[in-house]
Amino acid sequence: MAVREVLLLGDPTLRMTSEEVTDFDALDEVLIDLKDTLTWAQSHYGMGRAAAAPQIGYLKRVVCVQMLERSFYLVNPRIVRRSEETFEVWDSCFSMEAKFFVKITRNRSIKVKYVDENQEFHNETFTDDMSELLQHEIDHLEGIMCSDRLTDPRNIAMRQEWEKRYRTPGLGM
Ligand SMILES: [Zn+2]
Repeated sequence: MAVREVLLLGDPTLRMTSEEVTDFDALDEVLIDLKDTLTWAQSHYGMGRAAAAPQIGYLKRVVCVQMLERSFYLVNPRIVRRSEETFEVWDSCFSMEAKFFVKITRNRSIKVKYVDENQEFHNETFTDDMSELLQHEIDHLEGIMCSDRLTDPRNIAMRQEWEKRYRTPGLGM
């Protein structure tokens, strides 16, 4: 369908809470636009693994993950359990145009209940890079940006410095 404009940090829509999907017949446009826009953004920014519907202006609880290993949708995802163990990650976002990175703390593993685009129910545990990725994306559905998670404002780096000093393959956004 269409590559849509990615809303940027400062846009109040990114601060709104997304609604549960109830009408799956009306979901196709969101699914396709989200995937098309993610594909464009991954190519344009040379990074990124996922996007959330509110980033393209749909206030619906939909996330699209697109990685070499695995591509899938999460509809109505909810984090139902978080590990006590945490880890630090450098995170960024298409809604920040991947121009800067923030070092924040995420739970090492999470259990997520969601349905896929065919309304199949899933109850899945994600660890490490998938865990921090989905915490980032599910935060978007609550109007939370990764920069909100900064506990020390010094833990911020422009992309060039992050690339030089901190880049960890597989992690990021
Ligand atoms: Zn994001």
